[in-house]
Formats: sequence, C-alpha cells, structure tokens
Amino acid sequence: MLTGGRVIDPAAGVDGAYDLLVTEGEVDGVEPSGTLKPPADALVIDCAGLWVVPGLVDPHVHLRDPGFPEKETIASGLLAAAAGGFATVAAMANTAPVNDTPEIARYMIERAREAGGARLIPVSAVTKGLGGRELADFAAMAEAGARLFSDDGIPIDSEAVLVGALDKISRLGFAISLHEEDRALTGQGAMNAGDASKRLGVAGIPAGAESIRVRRDLAIAIGAQAQVHVAHVSTAEALQLVRAAKRRDAAVTCEVTPHHFTLDDSAVLEWGPNARMAPPLRSRDDVQALREAIADGTIDMIATDHAPHDPASKRMDRLSRLFGQGHPAARLSFEDADALAHSANGVIGLETALGLALRLVHEGVIGAVRMVEMMSAAPARLLRLEDAGTLVAGTRADVTLIDPDCEWTVDPERFLSKSRNTPFAGMKLRGKALVTIVAGQIVYDGRGAVKS
Ligand SMILES: [Zn+2]
Repeated sequence: MLTGGRVIDPAAGVDGAYDLLVTEGEVDGVEPSGTLKPPADALVIDCAGLWVVPGLVDPHVHLRDPGFPEKETIASGLLAAAAGGFATVAAMANTAPVNDTPEIARYMIERAREAGGARLIPVSAVTKGLGGRELADFAAMAEAGARLFSDDGIPIDSEAVLVGALDKISRLGFAISLHEEDRALTGQGAMNAGDASKRLGVAGIPAGAESIRVRRDLAIAIGAQAQVHVAHVSTAEALQLVRAAKRRDAAVTCEVTPHHFTLDDSAVLEWGPNARMAPPLRSRDDVQALREAIADGTIDMIATDHAPHDPASKRMDRLSRLFGQGHPAARLSFEDADALAHSANGVIGLETALGLALRLVHEGVIGAVRMVEMMSAAPARLLRLEDAGTLVAGTRADVTLIDPDCEWTVDPERFLSKSRNTPFAGMKLRGKALVTIVAGQIVYDGRGAVKS
C-alpha cells in the first residue's frame, strides 16, 4: 500500500492526496489519504512528499538486442528503464536480425520476462529488413505482441509502400510511428545546418529534411484516414504542420525527446558525437517552438529515443580529445569532420528523461499533471495498452514514485545502461524516480541512494 503521496492520474482526473492499495499485481483501490486501512500483512510505503503516478511509458527505445550486446541488452536496457521510472518501453525494430518476424518479437518478450525491470513491448518493422519495399506480416506481428509499427532509424521513402502499410495497420487498429527524414536533404550532414555547423566546418542538415516528409505523410495519412505518429519531432516547421493537421481533426500524434526540448545545436560544439542524433539537435528557435508545442498540446508525449552506442561506434577514439572537455570545439580538420559525420546517430535517455521533463514543470512550461500525461497516459494510448497509463482500480499495478525535488547530478558512470553516450553528463537536475513498480513488483528501488 502506498500512503500519503500526491496521486496524479490524468486519465482518471485524479490529482491529490490519496492512498493506493495494490493487491496481487493490480490496483485494488485509490481513496483519499487516511481512509483506507492497510491489510495486516501489507507492505506500506510512506509516500509523503512524493508523486504517485502511473508507471511511465516510453514509446520509443532502442535496446540493441538481438544484435549488439556491447551497446545494450534487453536486460540492461530494461533495468535502465526501471531506474528512470519507466514501467513499459516500446523497443524499436532495428535490431539484428530486424524485428520483422514473430520469432524475433517473441524472443524479445521472452528475454524481457527473464530480465525483470520494465515491461517490453516490441515494435514491429513496417518493411522486411527495414528495406522499405516489402511489408512485414502485420497481423502475425500483432499476434506475437507488437503494438506499434515503425521502420524507425530509416524513413519510409516510397509513398506507395506507406499507403499500403497504413491501410493494413489501421485495419488492425494500430498506429504507425514515422521517422521523418528526406535523406536526399540530409545528404552527408552530421548536425543541424546553422551557426554551429559552420563553426565546426561540417555539413548541415536543413529543417526541411524533416518537414518535407511530415507534410507528405500527413497528407497521405489524412487521405487514408489512418493514425500516424510522428516520432521525435524536432523543427518549428514540422510542428506547424502537425498543428494544422490536428485542427482538421486528423488522427495524428507526435512525440518529442528530452534532448530536443532541452538542447540546441550548440551542444554539438561541446559534446560532438554524444550530441549527434537523427533528427539532429536544432536551432534555439526550434527548441522554443518545441516547448510552446509541449505547452499547447500539439506535442502529445515524451519519448527518449534511447539509443545506446559504444565509444568505437561514436568514433570517440579520434574525437574524445576534442569534445567533452568543458570548452566548445573550433573548426574541425577534414579527418575529424569525417569522423563526426561517420559516428553513429543517437544518445541514451532512459535515466535522464524524467529529470529533464521535470525541468519543464519546475520552469513553469507545463504542470505536473500534463507532464505525467505525456509520459504515461498518452504513450499508453498510442500503444493501445488498456492496462497501463492509469491507476484506476482493476488495472495492472504499474506505478512510479517520483521525488520531484531531490537534486542530483548526472553521472554516466552510474547508469544501469551499458552505454554512456549522453550530452547531459554533469548536468544538475531536480527530481527523479525513486521507486518503479511493475505489476505490483518493485523493479527499481532508489530509496537507499537518495537522502531526502
Ligand atoms: Zn528515429
């Protein structure tokens, strides 16, 4: 039983002092504080000063398993997720082999079951091998446990393939998550096109590489009356398009990552490959537009796009002497620029997302209820998870206890993730997950680690 906390359950319209009784893995009751009597043998957790929220849901992670155990495994990824307050994560399909067959989806679910930590929802590839041509067997993938479909990491270039996929996926009642990037415009770009890319002397990626595809795909989705989800939106231009589509009642949702709403492209000067991802960190104006879209509801949810990489993939052998040294880098040599351009895309995020989202609350961009909505109820809806994203009696007891005020400093050496590729090392944050409960079981308990 969880007593005396501030229970925030946006889906149920609950925000206040409540006690929560969990029995046999399910929420048994939510009653005003002090009115529930704990059963004699109940474990009672005093939640005074804490937020008690539906277990956080991340609709976009890369766990690198099967295929790249040196970067992450399902076991390490799900522990990192739990430590970040996530009870459920949706694992993208760009593993090796690609998750385009029921066997791989079942492998992921089976590994997750053995691992403990957060629950894993497999995301099925849209096209076989992420090749962009032949569609996966969506019905078989859904049968195996997939709840979302995406070629994330690679855009779907062919309109015809996208139209066919939307038709089949929407018939099954699911959404497609789109990585929006026109690779002709990305070209050899290693970061956002702007002052920072000019200063480093590296090729830049224009905002249009994202928005041109968002424009095309929203038009296709509206025509098909299918639900599309725009992954990791990064530009003001793309947000305008999503906003306009929503005004037309299109079935569109979108997500933003903590790195995109926290950092602009100047972070690449400091962090180099550890601030490189697709889409790239954008301009200061784009960051401002993202924050406005978070506040006005254009952006539905927060996703980490947790993308672990080992130092070799990030070309740290060559680049660590230039970046992460506490001062911005200057113009790169041809060889260093080439190394940056060939460093793997992506940053980890599971263990910093909540602290960065809480910054939005502490800075007054959004309230606590909206933040919780963006990290639980909204992604649970995207994934069609009726047993997650809320604390109403009878649902699975996935609960996150958040200390909204404890101050801590990001130390990558303490991450449970196998990887360290973050641009947030040394950042001071306020608030973190204290306990993560999945189906009534405590899968992460940070109470010993934090003094309050
Ligand atoms: Zn992506």
